[in-house]
Amino acid sequence: MLTLGDLKLTMLNGGNFRLDGGAMHGVVPKTLWSKLVSCDALNRCEYTTRCLLVEAGDQRILIESGNGDKFPPKLKDIYGIDHDRSIEVALREVGLEPAAIDMVVMTHLHFDHCGGTTRRNARGTLEPVFPRARHVIQRREWQDATNAHERNRASYLGDNFLPLEAAGLLQLCDGETEIAPGVRVLRTPGHTEGHQSILLGSPDGPKALFLGDVVPTAVHTRLPWVMAYDLEPARTLETKRALFQRAINEDWLMVWGHDRDHTAGRLGPDKDGNPVVREFVTI
Ligand SMILES: [Zn+2]
Repeated sequence: MLTLGDLKLTMLNGGNFRLDGGAMHGVVPKTLWSKLVSCDALNRCEYTTRCLLVEAGDQRILIESGNGDKFPPKLKDIYGIDHDRSIEVALREVGLEPAAIDMVVMTHLHFDHCGGTTRRNARGTLEPVFPRARHVIQRREWQDATNAHERNRASYLGDNFLPLEAAGLLQLCDGETEIAPGVRVLRTPGHTEGHQSILLGSPDGPKALFLGDVVPTAVHTRLPWVMAYDLEPARTLETKRALFQRAINEDWLMVWGHDRDHTAGRLGPDKDGNPVVREFVTI
């Protein structure tokens, strides 16, 4: 747990899964990334789906929701998903039921970020997991998720987000928006056009940035380390450059959503002026 001004932050693990190491590191050859990241015999690296519980006054805000537990056996096997762990389990471990959550904010609607927002009930019908929560995403992300094409269709699974619209639980934002006191969403395009990151902290207090898939793990702090999954990799690079400049100037804490080993850290310039992780911080 970490206190950030008036906010209380608690890290939750929505479950681990595995993604192709080549796809995760984009143009970086395996000869380089394999020195820093281990992979299994199928070339898959293991990642967490980190979710962050933010308590802001009397509001409980959940950032991200993990993979959920609706995967058919074939996909469950491909992605090495563990159905025993979900955001519901993680919340209960800190004494909270899903109905206690007021708001769910997602960086984007790929399955590993929004899968935990819906489930199948005993009748086999899909229903929202967080019945009282407003679910906050960028309007552009909603448009893209509901008009998927061949390149992003495998990541946008309607079962994960269409029931939210049907239940009237969506809140669509257009660009930078303060969604609660000290909780602000920022457009951070590249991975998807409508991707957002979440900036936490009051205007003159300490800040933390939940990056989402702009920078999924600490090794992706290196500017050219951009995932092959990204729809516009050069845009991700520019988003990273701009974010890192602000993060270094204002000493933001960076929170990585998929890093199994490191929760968060602070950045600084190396001797050549490139942004690097200066120190790791455990939340
Ligand atoms: Zn992801």
